[in-house]
Amino acid sequence: MLTAKTKSGNLICLGLDYKKETLLELRKKEEFLCPVCGESVMLKLGEQRIFHFAHKQGETCSLGLEGETVRHLEGKRQLYQWLIRQRIPSVLEYYDREIQQRPDVMFQYKGKKYALEYQCSTIPEKDFIKRTNCYLKHAYVPLWIVSSDHLKLGQGHFATLSSFNYLFLRNTTSGDLFIPAYCPENQLFHLVSSITPYSIKNSFASHSIFPLKNINLDGLLEPQLIDNQLVLSQWFKNLERTKFMLSVHANAKSSPFLSEIYRHYLNLFLLPPEIGLPVPHALNIQTPPLIWQTYLFIDIIKYKQLGDIITLEELNTHFYRRVNRKEIILRHLPQIKETETPLKPLLEYLHILVWLDILGFNKSSNAFYLKQQMVIPETNRQYEVRRIDFYNKYRCILKYHK
Ligand SMILES: [Zn+2]
Repeated sequence: MLTAKTKSGNLICLGLDYKKETLLELRKKEEFLCPVCGESVMLKLGEQRIFHFAHKQGETCSLGLEGETVRHLEGKRQLYQWLIRQRIPSVLEYYDREIQQRPDVMFQYKGKKYALEYQCSTIPEKDFIKRTNCYLKHAYVPLWIVSSDHLKLGQGHFATLSSFNYLFLRNTTSGDLFIPAYCPENQLFHLVSSITPYSIKNSFASHSIFPLKNINLDGLLEPQLIDNQLVLSQWFKNLERTKFMLSVHANAKSSPFLSEIYRHYLNLFLLPPEIGLPVPHALNIQTPPLIWQTYLFIDIIKYKQLGDIITLEELNTHFYRRVNRKEIILRHLPQIKETETPLKPLLEYLHILVWLDILGFNKSSNAFYLKQQMVIPETNRQYEVRRIDFYNKYRCILKYHK
């Protein structure tokens, strides 16, 4: 840790630039105490690690503050100094005794108090959510920043994101979603945005890099993000791969999804090209779009007659029945407001179907209705023809619907 109290109650914060001689002098005449548990701590002034305080060996602090890596110490120190340089009132390792939380940095900005957490180690999802909710309940805006070495960004517009990565997802006031990451070695922020998953872990995404010295707090909270140019032909390529992976990793017995589509006389490789489309909020659902859109087809669209209406209530009932059976898994996004309901990607998808002329939408009754049945290809040849025709016609569905 980087802060300690002296016996007389003064706070020593190593986030500020102290000279080593000053600290050596201080160490001679002062005793340092942990601001959380009150036990005495040592001031470490070695060459290997950055200057820090540590509990004596064998002693554990009530908040479990030990075991910090150099990366974590360095990262939070840099972020703290970055805020101070912008004259933003900030406290490093601020301990809120009432809620027994100690964010890496607490700062006040535009009338709100923020709890910045720079996370270098993986923590269990339930702990992450519990801490986030605790901050929210006590009027803090949580700002979780993941260490950049937890991100796996592929070539081009690809990213492999774990459920841990998704916990860091936040939104700008205009509703853009992004994951902020920080690298202390190169002093760079990495922002991952326009995330459109096609499987549980793999997604199309944009990756922006901002040097710490060129960006201010507003630039981090409300970043200017690159819009992902999702090319539909690339999307289809990955969709085909997802289908292939589904078919090799599960036989009909072990996969309720596969056995269900066979029961409805469908073939995974002969689904109409209107099923498995990218939608802007697809990430709200962990289950791949191919699967939840197929369920939506089976549950609602397939058995409608032309002109039949699809109500929101119907959508809700079928969707949550699948969720309750764990056939559709929602993603935990603790920093996103609950008003961003899981139904959002479903509605986005239905509006794409309206655009594709499969459905109609009646504004006055706020209901969809069937305009045209989706044509289900019967042979591989038919499938290929429909698919090529489809994406020659609609190149950038996602962009069109943003
Ligand atoms: Zn302690």
